[in-house]
Amino acid sequence: MFIGHFAVAMAARRVAPRVSLGWLFAACQLPDLLWPVLLLMGLERARIEPGNTAFTPLAFDHYPWSHSLLMVVLWAVVLAALYAARHVRTSGAVVLGVLVVSHWVLDWITHRPDMPLLPMAGPKLGLGLWNSVAATLAIEYVLFAIGAWMYSASTRPRDRTGRWAWLALVAFLALMHAANAFAPPPPSMTAVAVAGLAIWLLVWWGEWADRHRVSDHRDGV
Ligand SMILES: [Zn+2]
Repeated sequence: MFIGHFAVAMAARRVAPRVSLGWLFAACQLPDLLWPVLLLMGLERARIEPGNTAFTPLAFDHYPWSHSLLMVVLWAVVLAALYAARHVRTSGAVVLGVLVVSHWVLDWITHRPDMPLLPMAGPKLGLGLWNSVAATLAIEYVLFAIGAWMYSASTRPRDRTGRWAWLALVAFLALMHAANAFAPPPPSMTAVAVAGLAIWLLVWWGEWADRHRVSDHRDGV
């Protein structure tokens, strides 16, 4: 899943108006932020195999550290602790922890059975939404529209950057989702990993746009 993760982060702003969008994005995508780094380090492995599922040509052979349920829970605790250490009001840490775990749940729905429960052994799970391009596009776009609407409804721009940086981010993510579905297979796994590092830029983009917007209501964590 790609933009569905961002959708959950944007929706979460409603219950966590004091937690910046950069932190929310980092939480919802933490396993995918770590994955390209671990690929480049040779600690995780994936292959290009057109037709692996209808939606993606990637075969996720081995990603125990970024995507096993046990490790994802651990990463959730690490990110929540990091947030709590840097903020006076720590209740947002719980929302961030839940968001990290939501990544595994959404990936479990989309991937074929390649999502490990434990890093070393044990079963691999996945419901295989990616077997249908149409269903993947439809479900993720619906989730994304709801998330973007919820974020827009609970914040408003402080200035022009707050309006345009936000709208450009939404448009970019929506286009990337379509590109993921219809682009030809990537040339190499190194290219995939390097492109994957761009998610770090999306965290920065979310933070930047968010700093130019204000929350309409401050109730919540
Ligand atoms: Zn993932």
